[in-house]
Amino acid sequence: MTETTHNLGIENRVDLLGLTLEETQTFFHSMGQEKYRAAQVMRWIYQGLSVSFDPMTNLSKELREKLTATARIGRLTTLQVFKSEDGVKKFLFGLDDGSRIESVYIPTQDHDTLCISTQVGCAMGCRICRTGKMGFTRNLTAGEIVGQLLEVRRQILDSAVRNVVLMGMGEPLANLSNTVRAIKIMTNPNGPQISWRHLTVSTSGLVPQMIELGHSVRVKLAVSLNAASDEVRSLIMPINHKYPLDELIAAMTNFPLPKRDRITIEYVLIKGLNDSDSDARMLVKLLNPVRAKVNLIPFNEELSTEFKTPLPARVAAFQDILMSKSLIAIIRKSRGRDILAACGLLASENRSDC
Ligand code: SF4
Repeated sequence: MTETTHNLGIENRVDLLGLTLEETQTFFHSMGQEKYRAAQVMRWIYQGLSVSFDPMTNLSKELREKLTATARIGRLTTLQVFKSEDGVKKFLFGLDDGSRIESVYIPTQDHDTLCISTQVGCAMGCRICRTGKMGFTRNLTAGEIVGQLLEVRRQILDSAVRNVVLMGMGEPLANLSNTVRAIKIMTNPNGPQISWRHLTVSTSGLVPQMIELGHSVRVKLAVSLNAASDEVRSLIMPINHKYPLDELIAAMTNFPLPKRDRITIEYVLIKGLNDSDSDARMLVKLLNPVRAKVNLIPFNEELSTEFKTPLPARVAAFQDILMSKSLIAIIRKSRGRDILAACGLLASENRSDC
């Protein structure tokens, strides 16, 4: 079984949380069981939210006992839930090794969105993000990625949480294998049943991994762009030295997008740095070959003293230029600000936004 050691618990029992359908089938095969048992048990874990084998009454008592002896169902520990005045909730989770990560639940009228983490910390060092200042500790396993969704569903019983964004702490594409495995589990009919249309991976722009992601799974893509020139982007995001804009735009242009779908471009507007009319015109030109829509996010001054928030009139003028050239541009409201759950504010107290 691929990366089985990843899923061995402290008791040496295999952790079934975080195994894909194929990996779960391999596990049952190794126990001398039929393959279909894998789908049955996955439905109990991801849809029934079971944390033990006892309630799995469509399995024989003998099999349940055997499973209890050889396997376990991991879960995260909820350390704290912060509730914002606007309904946003930030979950602080503890992991088996004592690390801490955060997820942010954002209720809306139509659908609830959950922003989940893929790493403890982040190595990318973006200057507009708190997580970037924490440094990198380790990658999350697929079970720890999917486990955030399960814990939130356990706690918010009336929530559908149909939208998931991999945009919390960490760069998902720097943890590509576990991100892909988590996506396969989340979109599997026996899993938590998140449609790929409601699942977004947000990246700071790791070009080779973007290409590999597009070939591995069907998923929506968001790219944290933040500038229309290499000079300014390299200042904000060190990753731009490695993968400059021409390579990034080429990767976006070739990303396999379903008809009518668009890549979301995240653009944090910083006063005097990337928010002028000429920046807006450069952005239009840069994005010309890409099927894109742009989220404009006024910089949050709680993140850093080195950058400033532009005035609302400047943000509106920037948006107008994009829209006048038929580029969809939405000004994103910052939610959860009072509990440090807004874009870029996770830091465990943690986080970011890719
Ligand atoms: S914005 Fe994303 S990639 Fe950049 S440092 Fe923060 S978490 Fe990492």
